[in-house]
Amino acid sequence: MRPSPEEALVKLLEGNRRFLAGEQSHPRANIEIRRQLTLGQEPLACILGCADSRVPPQLIFDQVIGDLFMVRVAGNVLDDVVIGSIEFAVAVLETPLVMVLGHQNCGAVRAAIEHKDKIGHLRNLTERIEPVFACCKDPNDPEEVAQINAKEVAKRLRLESLLATRIEAGQLKVVAAYYEMHHGTVQILSES
Ligand SMILES: [Zn+2]
Repeated sequence: MRPSPEEALVKLLEGNRRFLAGEQSHPRANIEIRRQLTLGQEPLACILGCADSRVPPQLIFDQVIGDLFMVRVAGNVLDDVVIGSIEFAVAVLETPLVMVLGHQNCGAVRAAIEHKDKIGHLRNLTERIEPVFACCKDPNDPEEVAQINAKEVAKRLRLESLLATRIEAGQLKVVAAYYEMHHGTVQILSES
C-alpha cells in the first residue's frame, strides 16, 4: 500500500529523528529485500539533494535500499535532465513525495556567492543559483541563499505540468527542506 504524500513526509522526518537519536533501524537492508526489489521499486520519496558527501539522504533519513529515488547534483539545482529524472519518479514510479533538500555549508552556494566558478563547467552550476540572490535579505549569507534556493527550486517544480496535476489531485507533495549540518536536523521550509 502506497503511503500518502503526508505519510511519506512523516516517515522521512521520523527517520531523521532516529538518525539524530542514534537509533537507526536497518534490519530490512538484507538479502531478502534486495531480491524483492529486483521485481520493481516503489520509493517513498524522490529527493533532489546536493552531491555533498556530508549530506547522504539515505543516512540522514534512516532509509534503506528501495526507499529513496535520489537525484543529487551540487547545489540541488535544476536543469532539464534533473527535471526529467524527478518526473520519472513521479509519473512512472508514482512516488508521492518530492523533497528539495538544501543544506548548511553548501560549497556550490558558497562558490556562487564568492564567484569562485572559473574552473571547468562550474559556472553551469553557479549561474543557476545566482538568480536567488535577488530574493535574499542578505545575498552574502550562505545559509539564507541555500534556504531560498531550495524554496525557489521547489516552487519551480510545482509549476511543471506533470507535477502540478498530481499536486492538484492530492497525489503528490513537493516540499523544500534544509539540513542543518551542525545538529543533523532537517527543517521543512515550504510545502505544496
Ligand atoms: Zn551543497
